[in-house]
Amino acid sequence: MGSVLQGLTKLQSVENRLRAAKAKLTRCRRNVIIQENQVRTLQNALEAKKEEIQLTTIQSDRLELELKSRDEQIAKLRASLNSAKTNKEYAAVLTQLNTTKADNSKIETQILELMKDIEADQAECLQMQQQIEEQKQKLEEIRKESEQLAEKYEKEIEEIQLEWDQAAKDIPGEFLETFKRVAETYDGEALAVIEQQEGKTATYTCGGCFMGVTAESVNLLMTRDEIIRCPNCTRILVLSSSQE
Ligand SMILES: [Zn+2]
Repeated sequence: MGSVLQGLTKLQSVENRLRAAKAKLTRCRRNVIIQENQVRTLQNALEAKKEEIQLTTIQSDRLELELKSRDEQIAKLRASLNSAKTNKEYAAVLTQLNTTKADNSKIETQILELMKDIEADQAECLQMQQQIEEQKQKLEEIRKESEQLAEKYEKEIEEIQLEWDQAAKDIPGEFLETFKRVAETYDGEALAVIEQQEGKTATYTCGGCFMGVTAESVNLLMTRDEIIRCPNCTRILVLSSSQE
């Protein structure tokens, strides 16, 4: 292989390291975002729980009010019971009084249930609050750790970028553009090594997409210093060190 292809091979190895370092930086920043989301999810759940408590309280207040007016009703019924003039009237008022009392006791039970719900929800809120505090603390630790790591990775990237620039310096512009374009398409993998299958006659495939490559292409690569791209995936084809 000629010097251009050798240069591209060198550039590819630097490109791989550059991408790996950038991926590490992205990952370490993502950890912070994941933890931030964790805290936010808990905070939203807490807000929802508080709202639930508010609604239950409104419901319970409404029932209390109803109970109060029914108690007044009972007092009135008791009074009319005393002033009943006939047995029939007495019996009718007594029935009404008993029904109202029974209804009231149902409402009292309902109120008690709601109070129990509120208490349970408040206990849950307290627990959630605690969890939020814990997760917030963890977030701060992750943030600190990530900042330190990011600084290290940024420096690493800077250094590799210098190497990249150095490696790219002697590659003709047009080839460099092709390299960059294909690298963008294949997550950094611009070059593909030609693989050789032994048989009666040797056959060749692209190491990137595994489609066939003609023997002419291989011959050209052996004799000339030019770029040949896989007709299928467009990666830049290079020979493996044993083929040179
Ligand atoms: Zn290919």
